Amino acid sequence: MSNALSNRINNLPISQTLAMAAKARELKGQGKDIISLSLGEPDFNTPDFIKDAAIEAINQDYNSYTPVDGYVELKEAICEKFKRDNGLTYKPNQIVVSTGAKQSIANIAQVLLNPGDEVLLPAPYWVSYSAIAMLCEAKFTEIPSSIDSDFKITPAQLEAAITSKTKMIFFNSPNNPSGSIYSEEEYRALAKVLEKHPDIYILSDEIYEHINYGTKPFSFAAIENMYDRTITVNGLAKAFAMTGWRIGFIGAPEWIAKACTKMQGQITSGTNCIAQRAAITAVLAEPSKVQYMVDEFKTRRDIVLDLLGNIEGFKLNIPEGAFYIFPDISAFFGKTIKGKEIKNANDFSMLLLEEANVATVTGDAFGAPNCIRMSYAASELQLHEAVKRIKEVLS
Ligand code: GLU
Repeated sequence: MSNALSNRINNLPISQTLAMAAKARELKGQGKDIISLSLGEPDFNTPDFIKDAAIEAINQDYNSYTPVDGYVELKEAICEKFKRDNGLTYKPNQIVVSTGAKQSIANIAQVLLNPGDEVLLPAPYWVSYSAIAMLCEAKFTEIPSSIDSDFKITPAQLEAAITSKTKMIFFNSPNNPSGSIYSEEEYRALAKVLEKHPDIYILSDEIYEHINYGTKPFSFAAIENMYDRTITVNGLAKAFAMTGWRIGFIGAPEWIAKACTKMQGQITSGTNCIAQRAAITAVLAEPSKVQYMVDEFKTRRDIVLDLLGNIEGFKLNIPEGAFYIFPDISAFFGKTIKGKEIKNANDFSMLLLEEANVATVTGDAFGAPNCIRMSYAASELQLHEAVKRIKEVLS
């Protein structure tokens, strides 16, 4: 039967983050005591003031189709947010609300990329960027980095990766999976290179913006001569613990926003009405209202860093944001542990799943084959237990 499927879907890799989460769920269902550090999902509830706004919307009979690009009130609220948090001036006709930041990114890729265009992906990068580029029949080129450069690329590397076919580059700061944050200075140095290549568009994924531990992330579009070719992507999933509500949005040059609206109009139409009404309240709320979650994530980050730091073979950087630890575990390659030969990060991640009952995601999926990703959006108790089990298996 699979012969009937298109090449497009047959060639598409499965999302490794979602696959690992599904695997963990399945094993749990079989009665195994799995600790899942695989999915990037806050373990908090959506704050009450947002839930109340959704309940009110239901009672006010928000039932109908919504404007394809989002309610005007929400787009105005997003403009205010961009001004308040990012120093960016957008008008409502530059905003498009989508069913999660993932759809926002897919829209942008669909409207800008032609087959054969090249997309630059500073690695490590979120698993779906490469798949989304593939769906547009574009090629993606990884720009590698390592833990020694805090998982950041240099202007010289960027310059070397650009070809006459380069159409886009995807930036993501704070980064999933490394937690690294590009400083304003570092972004400006990369922009200097892009200045010489006016046909390259920049997608700046800022979904982890509010989850930072003191280093305030800088928005790429705030660089004066980059504004006209940067698309700023954000959403509510991470900072507001609203992963399932599926609200993402972009601020973009008007012609790109218009094209994304046209694309979305043929695929999903407007985003869910109740989630959009609640999103108005969330977007207008001061970030300080969700700071308690960020403080908790920081405590957990420090705990995990401290615990993993005691395991020989784990090389760590200090993530400045998001909620992932991305250790380089290549010291284990070539070893046999519990009768299993560890050739790569996949083997290591499977070893942790099968022998320690701890689910992680292989770095391969993020373009960083020496690493694994561990989400610390889990309780302190679970984190202590997970590292204890890992330590036992490795000793
Ligand atoms: N973005 C999250 C992650 O990286 C959620 C899963 C996904 O959509 O990839 O785990």
